[in-house]
Formats: sequence, structure tokens, C-alpha cells
Amino acid sequence: MAGQQSTLPNLLEFAVQMSCESCVQKINSVLQGVSGIRSVKINLESEQVLVETTLTSQEVQDLIESTGRRAVLKGMGSDTLRNLEAAVAMLSGPGPVQGVVRFVQLTEEKCIVEGTIDGLNPGLHGLHVHEFGDLTDSCTSCGGHLNPYGKQHGGPRDADRHVGDLGNILAAEDCRAIFRLEDEQLKVWDIIGRSLVVDAEEDDLGRGGQPLSKLTGNSGERLACGIIARSAGLFQNPKQICACDGVTLWEERDKPIAGPGRKSTSKPSANL
Ligand code: ZN
Repeated sequence: MAGQQSTLPNLLEFAVQMSCESCVQKINSVLQGVSGIRSVKINLESEQVLVETTLTSQEVQDLIESTGRRAVLKGMGSDTLRNLEAAVAMLSGPGPVQGVVRFVQLTEEKCIVEGTIDGLNPGLHGLHVHEFGDLTDSCTSCGGHLNPYGKQHGGPRDADRHVGDLGNILAAEDCRAIFRLEDEQLKVWDIIGRSLVVDAEEDDLGRGGQPLSKLTGNSGERLACGIIARSAGLFQNPKQICACDGVTLWEERDKPIAGPGRKSTSKPSANL
């Protein structure tokens, strides 16, 4: 992964099917002591697992599900600023690339960007917040990188960068990128209603010496995109039925994470 190692944990709220105290113990045993997990709280009655972590939600979900139980992410937030802001973007495009990316504002200065994107060629891919939430012409109509201060394109740790410049994510050999970034310029309240785009090539972070380096990072065509929508923070998602497409919370996780395989994509964020 490009960028610094994340250090600030956030809270993940999962709904997990649990029937007995031994379930609680099994889930506890796979989570306790794992590097990157600070604390675990499990409530059997409400079938809730609360994890304070610097891991991605995908990684924690995989750990919980290694016990043979289903887990659904219900909310994300921070312990100190419990529901500052959270948002989600479901990415899809004309090709096979699709994914879910979540944003949580942990403090005024720290925004967590975490997600899973499938269908990418192994290697680095530019990831940017774009100016418009307009996908009427697929990923080409969402404008340039979000740049309210008229800066040059850069890397996520550069002072001189577009606000939307999130750098690169790394796709593994299985064509999946799982990532968690901390960003100090992005604010969730500034990006809701805009869009997130993943590109075909590596972003040169403005250092490539190409004509496009200082404009876009020369990161190639736009593979997939999604509108950034407000989503549930911690404990804000009490429903068991997803209002968007009628599937239950437990069925939800078997749906494709984005794209035409969902019954409806009109309000994809309602259960996330
Ligand atoms: Zn840029």
C-alpha cells in the first residue's frame, strides 16, 4: 500500500449471527491478540460485535467469518467523535472492476478511507475523489480531481496536492485491493455527493515528468466510479431489513458488492 501505515484506530460495528455463549468465545478467540485489533466487545443478545481496530473492515469480517458465522458491517465511527461523519461509495464501471469504499471522519484532521476493490490488474492504481457526483456518462462525467484550492496534482502526503488525491492502492495477484488510508486533507462533509474513481494505472504523484503528471498523475483511464453517499455511523443502523432492495441484513452480504447483480442500485448505501 502506498502511504504511511495507519495508526489511529476506528470502531467497526458488525452484526454477527450468534446463538450461544460458545459463539461469543470463539469470535473472541479469533480477534483477541491479533495485531491491529485494540479491543473487542461482543453482545450476544443484540448479536453485535464491536471492534476497535486499524485493520480494514474486510479483514475483520474475514476473521469473524473464519468461525463459520456470517458478519455484516453495520456501521463505522470513532470512539471519541462517535458519529462525526461517515460515507460510502459503491464502485462499478463498464468493465469487471467493482468495490466498496468507506470514509469515516475520525477527527477534524483525520479521515479514514478503507475499502475493497475487485477486478483490478495486480499492481498500483490511482484513487481519487472527483469533483462531481455525475455518472450520467459513466466515469467520464464526474469531472477532474477535487481541487477547491487550485493546487497542482500531487501525492497524499504532499502539501501541494488536490484535496481528492489519495495516491495509489495496491491490487494483489488475486486482483483484489484491500486498503486503509488515513488522510489529513479530505473531509467527509466536503465529499458527500461527489464521486470516487479508481484508475487503470499507477498515479505518479506529480513526479513522473509527463505532461499529465501535474494534472492527473498520468494514471490512465477510469476503470470504476461511484457516488459518495452518506452512510450509517455507529449504532445508527437499527434495521434488519434493507429498505433499498428488500433483502435482509443477513442476505445482504451474498449480494454482489456493486453493479447489476444487485436488485436495485438506486440507494446502495442504505444498509452500509
Ligand atoms: Zn489530482
